[in-house]
Amino acid sequence: MKIAVCPGSFDPITLGHLEIIQRTANIFDKVIVLVMANYRKKSSHVFTADERAELIRKSIKSMDGMDNVEVDVYTGLLADYAEKKNATAIVKGLRAVSDFEDEFQQALTNQKLYSGFETMFMAASAENMFLSSSLVRQVGELGGDISAFVPDVIANDILERLRKD
Ligand code: ADP
Repeated sequence: MKIAVCPGSFDPITLGHLEIIQRTANIFDKVIVLVMANYRKKSSHVFTADERAELIRKSIKSMDGMDNVEVDVYTGLLADYAEKKNATAIVKGLRAVSDFEDEFQQALTNQKLYSGFETMFMAASAENMFLSSSLVRQVGELGGDISAFVPDVIANDILERLRKD
């Protein structure tokens, strides 16, 4: 069975992430969306890891072509997780050149730690390439309409949570 892991902070998940996940689910037998609980920018996370996982679960339940997608939370090294799950690939979305250097460095590091999987990059669609979690947080915190950026089923959850802060 070919398993792909799509890791990230997902603080919160956006339509951009979900598009990459859906396209990955088309190609692989199983996709694990992995919320990296201690993943960089830790102190700036607005949503807890469990909240982020719940928003992802709710989103994928509402979408087609996601029957082979699971959500998990992890605090350790991505390479260890991929090895443990026998993953074939780590799949990441690339929006622009600005994503590239950091992603490339991570891919090479993971390759050194464990060479049993490939890191693959999927190009963002033109429609979603401007989308980011921070944009959703900024617009939401200021009371703006985030319905073009996240699935309808989670838009209110996100707005309510951002209002609480
Ligand atoms: P990170 O902390 O690595 O930036 P994110 O949760 O922001 O984690 O993103 C996870 C992955 O999704 C990264 O590979 C990122 O480049 C990709 N991604 C984020 N937003 C988009 C988007 N709008 N379109 C395609 N890929 C995206």
